[in-house]
Amino acid sequence: PEEQYNPDPHKKTLVILGTGWGSVALLKKLDTENYNVVVVSPRNYFLFTPLLPSCTTGNIEHRSIMEPVRQILRHKKAAVKYYEAEATHIDAERKVIKISDSSEIKGVINETEVPYDMLVIGVGAENATFGIPGVREHSCFLKEIRDAQAIRTKIMDCVETAAFKDQASDEIDRLLHMVVVGGGPTGVEFAGELRDFFDEDIKKLIPDIADRFKVTLVEALPNVLPMFSKQLIDYTESTFKEEHIEIKTKTMVKKVTDKTIEADVTGPDGKKEKITIPYGLLVWATGNALRPIVKDLMSQIPAQKDSRRGLAVNEYLVVQGARDIWAVGDCAVAGYAPTAQVASQEGAFLARLFNNMAKTESLESEIHELSSTLNIKPGNAAEVTQEIEGCERQLRRIKDIKPFHYSHQGSLAYIGSDRAVADVSWFNGNLAFGGNLTYYFWRSAYLSMCFSTRNRVLVALDWVKAKIYGRDVSRE
Ligand code: FAD
Ligand code: NAD
Repeated sequence: PEEQYNPDPHKKTLVILGTGWGSVALLKKLDTENYNVVVVSPRNYFLFTPLLPSCTTGNIEHRSIMEPVRQILRHKKAAVKYYEAEATHIDAERKVIKISDSSEIKGVINETEVPYDMLVIGVGAENATFGIPGVREHSCFLKEIRDAQAIRTKIMDCVETAAFKDQASDEIDRLLHMVVVGGGPTGVEFAGELRDFFDEDIKKLIPDIADRFKVTLVEALPNVLPMFSKQLIDYTESTFKEEHIEIKTKTMVKKVTDKTIEADVTGPDGKKEKITIPYGLLVWATGNALRPIVKDLMSQIPAQKDSRRGLAVNEYLVVQGARDIWAVGDCAVAGYAPTAQVASQEGAFLARLFNNMAKTESLESEIHELSSTLNIKPGNAAEVTQEIEGCERQLRRIKDIKPFHYSHQGSLAYIGSDRAVADVSWFNGNLAFGGNLTYYFWRSAYLSMCFSTRNRVLVALDWVKAKIYGRDVSRE
């Protein structure tokens, strides 16, 4: 039988919020026997987000990129407590968090408090809507598994409704117009996957609507993928042209209704023009916004007053102005982009830090104990002094923890028709490449990054399955 969680009153309680990239990287490397570890997250699994766009078309099945948190915790040396709940308030004065069961089934008790000695916040971010009217009501986001499932269902609903007997011609065009707002990597990867789905599967199965399907990517800035090098932006834009994905840059969406988007387009002369675009499916991918729990904590801490994008942290990821609270990933502002790469390196850093802190404390108490035996048994003085010196040497070595340093491995994005773009760090330089070979690099890189061997096998099988049998177009 698995070991049960048994909190030790002599150990500190470390509470970790979230089961995303940051928190799971911390859990993976943390020596759990040093603390009473409690994990709180409304999502009882880790999600491998880089392959989420592939789930929207069924190229990958959603369970293949999910890893149950219970499975992850099972392998830890000392048992960890997990609560499927949302943290709704952090009381930094009393050092307690309020948690609430936000799932459908609730028990008699569905709200309570969890005390902490140390707290790590890894709650990620919400979808940004900038308060644009109609976005929440009418568009799909692409952040969680349920978003990918909703998109998959909606794509097929639009297609089947367009193919309905005697469907009006304008309505066919609207229903088959798939609009993506936001030309960051999420929007670009989704647009590419969508076009593939249509070209490789839907077209064959429903040929009568084949020439009406259209994908448009809308971006407020002058180009898509701003974090990639110029050469790769050009390559992506020309590939999209070949794939018949229309890119509308300098187009800022201002309003969304159930069937149209309204946007301001800035022309070459700087003049603004209003346009209305009818759509069947709208996917909103305009980046991140703060979660309520993060906003709430920031409002309690005067040192966070000027921080806009998240919890400002120092070089050891300590939340500025707070005691015993650390933050990782998309909810923390450490001077890096909100990516999985950054979040997982931050999580792994905190694990090293906490492992060291625990070791330091145990060495210090060992030195204290040895010093006291010196007075009781003076005969062993030389031996004990030697032991104390050994402990002190170890202590000096591990106490010297360097601040967090992010090492950028590069950026990768899939752009459709078996092509990808990559900006990779190479011996202090940068290497930019794109095309079909890059796609195989993209595939192997993501496969190797999957959480577990089980995930890796499932993803590889999904790719083979989709290649042989095509994607499944049944609408769930
Ligand atoms: P998340 O991974 O979002 O995890 C947050 C966790 O906190 C979740 O478990 C959530 O349920 C939980 N939570 C939320 N609210 C609460 C609460 N109140 N209390 C407790 N728990 C809470 N980055 C890359 O580097 N490469 C990529 O290829 C890439 N592809 C991406 C593709 C898509 C479609 C998306 C959406 C993002 C992609 N990213 C990629 C970005 C990457 O996913 C994020 O930067 C990363 O997930 C951030 O990790 P995190 O731990 O901060 O948050
Ligand atoms: P993003 O912030 O990178 O891009 C959002 C885009 O939406 C911006 O270019 C912005 O100009 C545009 N936008 C905002 N408001 C708009 C409006 N009203 N009308 C039109 N356009 C508007 O967001 P993302 O793509 O979701 O990425 C979020 C984070 O996750 C980023 O850090 C990204 O690097 C990371 N990510 C990485 C990968 C990858 O490496 N393959 C994939 C997905 C996400």
